[in-house]
Amino acid sequence: MTSTSSYSYLHKSPQDVLNDIDFQLTLEPALLTKLTKAFLEEINVGLGRYGEDMAMVPSFVTGVPDGSEVGTFLALDLGGTNLRVCEVVLNGDKTFRLRQQKYKVSDQLKTGEATVLFDYLADSVDAFLTTHPPESPTSPISDVPDVLPLGLTFSFPVEQTALGSGTILTWTKGFSAKNAIGNDVVKLLQDAFDRKHMHVKCVALVNDTVGALLSRAYTSGGCMLGAIFGTGTNGAYLEEVAKIPKLANNPAATKGGYMVVNTEWGAFNNKRTHLPSTPFDSALDRTSINPRFQAFEKFISGMYLGEITRHILLSLIDAAPRPMLFGGKATKVVNDQWGLDTSVMSEVEEAWEMRVTVDPTVAKDLDGVGNINEIGAEPRSFPGEIGENLLWDGDDHDILPRWDILSTPEGLASLNPKVKEKLERVRKVLVNRLEYADGDVELRDAAIVRWTCHLVARRAALLSGVAVAAILLQTGRATFIQDGQNGQTVPSTTEEPTSKKVNGANGTHDVNGLSKVTGTIKDGLEEKIGVGVDGSLIQFYPHFERTMRESLRSIVGSDAESRVEIGLAKDGSGVGAALCALQALKQGF
Ligand code: ADP
Ligand code: MG
Repeated sequence: MTSTSSYSYLHKSPQDVLNDIDFQLTLEPALLTKLTKAFLEEINVGLGRYGEDMAMVPSFVTGVPDGSEVGTFLALDLGGTNLRVCEVVLNGDKTFRLRQQKYKVSDQLKTGEATVLFDYLADSVDAFLTTHPPESPTSPISDVPDVLPLGLTFSFPVEQTALGSGTILTWTKGFSAKNAIGNDVVKLLQDAFDRKHMHVKCVALVNDTVGALLSRAYTSGGCMLGAIFGTGTNGAYLEEVAKIPKLANNPAATKGGYMVVNTEWGAFNNKRTHLPSTPFDSALDRTSINPRFQAFEKFISGMYLGEITRHILLSLIDAAPRPMLFGGKATKVVNDQWGLDTSVMSEVEEAWEMRVTVDPTVAKDLDGVGNINEIGAEPRSFPGEIGENLLWDGDDHDILPRWDILSTPEGLASLNPKVKEKLERVRKVLVNRLEYADGDVELRDAAIVRWTCHLVARRAALLSGVAVAAILLQTGRATFIQDGQNGQTVPSTTEEPTSKKVNGANGTHDVNGLSKVTGTIKDGLEEKIGVGVDGSLIQFYPHFERTMRESLRSIVGSDAESRVEIGLAKDGSGVGAALCALQALKQGF
């Protein structure tokens, strides 16, 4: 399917067109604070009632692991680009072993009959067991020793009713299988296993965000938030049961304590009253499979950033009276809906930065933002020329192309040679990834596309910071910083946090300084706030985490921000499902 752009650029100079787009996609700190307040309100509405946009799903997981858990489990992960089947061995010393196989999920399966999709899931588990017969004995289900226990990671909105059952509320991320919504996803899967007479029992249902939280807690010893920035975005955190009124008379409510809540924050502000929507966002939404749903996710996640960028580029290609990009030519990649993958944006930004791989500890000193963590344990890169005044207005991070300089031979000749080299690298990426002929892409086009990618991704990372800040505020781990403009403290919209009592200096930490209940790691006087993340966007997009931290600082200040320890939830969906299956067996499934 192709889509046309319909943005009027008449009566504007090319520079004004660029300025306008820049203005529309730039977020001020005051807006981030406002969005965070609205986010907190939706959190509490969702905790109070079922059926709200932000579903705030209780997971029935009532604590986080500490790394001592032991067992062998099967895990099945459905929820994004791939389907994964794994065998997870928890060693009980914060380490695990994992064998896995990925399987493709075709569009036909995503949008066809649910039974066909679930039969495919069962077939995939069957195929995995054939090629990977269990090495270590799996943890037995009490009275049926030859049945393999499996944890299902299902990363779509589900209203969970127990650890091992939950009703599908809606599909997201391009799925729309028929006759699934309203049904128990565990039953759909178990029925498929049973139809094939397989000796597999699905004992636990877990969202990938809950999995990220649990697996990060298992490997690091403490974690309070699991967050995904991949195909979609979502987060799960540890909440006080007393603050989940909608549990009402559920036995889980009477026990008190804590429960992991899957926020389904991708649906924040579906009414779009606060989100900074542009015509490009509206175009994306209108032509998506789920218009008016998952509004927040559509500003943030990997499935959508390329598509927003594509809409902006098309509007410049089609600009009247004269095209402003690629001489008015559009390739298939640029013309087809979803044609431009978010990884292209990453590549464009990397090319611009002329990334060099350095020792991560050195990078930490150089950029001075302390964002090196386990993600950064892999070779990490950083911009080649930090702080150099390179080009037209702005610095290396904020470059609004100057049409006059980029449009004349004299202007181009006046460019810093390093800038020219960077633009030439970007130009090559565009020729390659957008499938243009070499002669169709000028340095000016390279500058415009790089700037567009940067604007779209920066907005996404700043908005991601809003979600993390809201969870810190909700759990009493941070407060809004003073509003610089009028010198007043911005009050939190939530009541006085009660969790402080538990997390504070006089709290209930065990001898290792680990608060098993709240997922906070105590480190000297400072309490580190563990956040486990997963997803290609946060792992691979240049500076995504750094920009997210910039957002956090502008909302809750640098003290709170610096206590946040972001780390990769390695194999979160697999290990998380295993940890959940273990909890289900302990509860006597
Ligand atoms: P999932 O969320 O489905 O489990 P991922 O975390 O791998 O899977 O996320 C896939 C999404 O990430 C896709 O939307 C893809 O466009 C995007 N993506 C893949 N590679 C990159 C990259 N290098 N930089 C940014 N985004 C990427
Ligand atoms: Mg994933």
